[in-house]
Amino acid sequence: MNPNSRTVGFQAGERNIFFHILTACNLSCRHCYINTDQHGKSTLSQETIEKWLELFADPNKKTNVIFLGGEPTLHPRLSQGIVKAKELGMAVTVDSNGFLFNDLLKKTSPDLLDYLSFSLDGPDATVNDPIRGEGVYEICTANMYKAVQMGYNVSVIYTVSRLNIEHLHKMIPLLTKFGVKRFFIQVIGLRGSSAQASAGEQGWQVSPEQWLDIVPGVARLAVDAGIHVTFPKVFLEKDDCFECAGIVTENFFIFPNGRVYRCPLCEDHPIHSLEIIENQLVHSEGLTEDDFFQLNIAEGCVMNKLLQPDTLSYDEKGTPVHRISCCLLKQEILPETFDKSGVTTVLK
Ligand code: SF4
Ligand code: SF4
Repeated sequence: MNPNSRTVGFQAGERNIFFHILTACNLSCRHCYINTDQHGKSTLSQETIEKWLELFADPNKKTNVIFLGGEPTLHPRLSQGIVKAKELGMAVTVDSNGFLFNDLLKKTSPDLLDYLSFSLDGPDATVNDPIRGEGVYEICTANMYKAVQMGYNVSVIYTVSRLNIEHLHKMIPLLTKFGVKRFFIQVIGLRGSSAQASAGEQGWQVSPEQWLDIVPGVARLAVDAGIHVTFPKVFLEKDDCFECAGIVTENFFIFPNGRVYRCPLCEDHPIHSLEIIENQLVHSEGLTEDDFFQLNIAEGCVMNKLLQPDTLSYDEKGTPVHRISCCLLKQEILPETFDKSGVTTVLK
């Protein structure tokens, strides 16, 4: 095993803010998890973005903010949001679909923006574009190239599904060619559009066998090519400890309608544990995700069992073959040469 391979335990004293500043997007990816019935359609004003960032600022904690949408670069004031987050001492990431609207590369700088992440779901247009849209591959990779040339720390997020898992290995030469140093492999979830697609079609989710056969091996090859790789743990080994991030970490998934979730699997349901009302963070009343986090079950993650039971299988005694880890638990493999001081967040 690579000596730099490790499961990233949840970091005590660290806070991750996943801030959806709008839900609008120029694309309509087939697996989009945005659900405007639950998350609203509004675009937050610059003033609101700044006030809400202040709610989560804590000088005693390492705080990472990830600006999301929709497509966050559609927001004309994103660069001011980045400045404000930096003033509050936060490490800043923007997750973009690659269109980089409003001249983002010129309006901010690599000094302010710690990471710029591009979502790409295939190593070429024939794989990526049927998932993310016609012509998207070309625009996304051209902007990725531009960002690397301008000195930004660029990472790529690849959402693995049945539609693209067989092509994952081909991402390595592409990332090498573009000089991308970090690669996040995500697993398709049953949220938003992917939830609907899974009901009507064959299903997007990969089987445990497919995941275990392909993803860790490709991750190792990417590391050999000098790329820092992060991917979800998903299946716990017998001796692995199960922890629910909703209990042991400080992750906040903020939406423009003021809902604040602690668990991304809960985002399609009105069970958010917190809410921002008149710029104040308050606890929600009634049944919330907090109540689910407390349930201790043999299958590991309780929300996975409730929402994605197909991921579970049992032996003849009725014991789960694998416990499912928290979806926020990651494995990370760093190349020997990787500058660890550059790591900002792994909870993505
Ligand atoms: S997945 Fe992202 S880029 Fe695609 S439609 Fe949804 S918000 Fe837009
Ligand atoms: S994914 Fe499961 S384990 Fe993780 S925060 Fe949600 S309920 Fe808890």
